[in-house]
Amino acid sequence: MNWKLLIWLVLGCILTSFLWGFFGHRKIVYLAVFTLPVEMSGFYKKNIHDLSEIAINPDRRRYAIPEEAPRHYIDIEDYGDSALYKLPRYWNEVLQMIPEDSLNERGIVPWHIVTMYYFLRDAMMVRDPEKIIQYSSELSHYIADAHVPLHTTRNYDGQLTGQKGIHAFWESRLPELFFDDYDFLLAKQSILKMFNWLPGVL
Ligand SMILES: [Zn+2]
Repeated sequence: MNWKLLIWLVLGCILTSFLWGFFGHRKIVYLAVFTLPVEMSGFYKKNIHDLSEIAINPDRRRYAIPEEAPRHYIDIEDYGDSALYKLPRYWNEVLQMIPEDSLNERGIVPWHIVTMYYFLRDAMMVRDPEKIIQYSSELSHYIADAHVPLHTTRNYDGQLTGQKGIHAFWESRLPELFFDDYDFLLAKQSILKMFNWLPGVL
């Protein structure tokens, strides 16, 4: 057995699996730039490559910072019927109802999106281009994660229903294989609806 070859093969597999995971996030922020109003699109188009690259940083941080992981999901069924409408929108309000460690255990993505939004708004107010790019890109990551159904359930990898491995298949393998066939036309109304959800928007 050629050990050097084996090591290269293992490294190749690891790297490829990360690239699959990152593929979707890079594409989402890249395409999102083309949905922006003309007043904003010039700045974002100029920085589109940095935006695409930074979009994967939140996942990279998961291996380095313990508090990062809960920012990417929420086990919404733990909060009962119509939880998305009943739970408080603001982090300090929800903290008054539920202890922080139990929130972290179930994931905090909706509240972290709001936190990132405020970071971005502040960066825009002081006109800091580097921070604007960083927070825009990272915000896109968390919003994208919140739209993956498997980021909103305890059964996040089909482990409770005999479908282990469905997570990577759904969010990595499928976009890799079928990206060219996806329809990226967006309804303006649904984007506006999402922004209306964010408190104190613009
Ligand atoms: Zn993520």
